Amino acid sequence: MIVSAQSLLQDVQSKSYSLMRGLGRAQTLLRRLTRHERPIVLMYHRVAEVACDPWQLAVRPHYFADHLRVLTSERKVVPLAWLVDELQEGRIPLRSAVLTFDDGYADVFHTAKPILEEYDCPATVFLTTGALDTPGFWWDVLSRIILETPTLPLTLNFEAGGNSHHFGSWQVGQPGGVQDIAAREALHTELWRALRPLDPIERDSALAELATWAGVDVSPRSSDRVMTSQEARALSESPLISIGAHTVTHPSLPLIPDNDKRREICDSRMACERIVAHPIPGFAYPFGDQDDASVSAARAAGIQFACTTDAGVITPKTDLMKIPRILAADWSQDDFRQNVLSFC
Ligand SMILES: [Zn+2]
Repeated sequence: MIVSAQSLLQDVQSKSYSLMRGLGRAQTLLRRLTRHERPIVLMYHRVAEVACDPWQLAVRPHYFADHLRVLTSERKVVPLAWLVDELQEGRIPLRSAVLTFDDGYADVFHTAKPILEEYDCPATVFLTTGALDTPGFWWDVLSRIILETPTLPLTLNFEAGGNSHHFGSWQVGQPGGVQDIAAREALHTELWRALRPLDPIERDSALAELATWAGVDVSPRSSDRVMTSQEARALSESPLISIGAHTVTHPSLPLIPDNDKRREICDSRMACERIVAHPIPGFAYPFGDQDDASVSAARAAGIQFACTTDAGVITPKTDLMKIPRILAADWSQDDFRQNVLSFC
């Protein structure tokens, strides 16, 4: 059979185009498959039944068990420090997942830990060390005052951080009348923004003022309480649990002076080290807020890896001082599968 040089060339070109098209499709498929298999770090705060949860902090215990059942069937759940070691060695452990808890709520010790043990899942718990042995966090008191008090006065004149706030237009409730949920949620968000930059003493005073205005008790309720130091120590004794630092007072780090950033991180790390009696390499930025100075302060405080609240999967380019996490909310197993496993 005689084949002309021209037709041979065309044949080769056609085959190479089709090979390239095939390779392109394979690469796309591989990228898609690999994306689904990339490591993920999940972020939880509480495992509890709560009446009101504006920030999606709590997951009901049976849903948390569902999450772990789904996760362990599809992924290998590994400790955060192990994942960091792998990344530092240039390896991406595909199909792995990490569990983290922020803040240090007591229900992590009493409710989450037994479920973690049932599914043999390791987790890292980032402690707000100044909140240990105290009744609870300011944001829970605020949401109780604004979102759970049956009736609120119609107007609010409020001083916070030297600024006056007038909330007369919110019409947050009428005595014995229908409550406007959307107005209350908007008021809650505004007040949360006003209170967040304050130092703890100013904030406590502002909360007391709000509680007087609403006619409710300012003290946090026991179901929202933070771990005691003793509970934190007992939690850390579980071979499944690692402890990380989450500052002393849970400030937004970019909003405070650089010296305070470093002190917040360093003092929190040292307090964690007193609890677990070994070095603490991990940290989570409160509210996920960080800037270059916060990252530098964390490094200067001896932190080797730090988590944000930016959603994302782990890639070879992940900055270990800005590890992304995926928020796991109070989702059924189907929603968890959809929102978390489909996400990555
Ligand atoms: Zn936090």
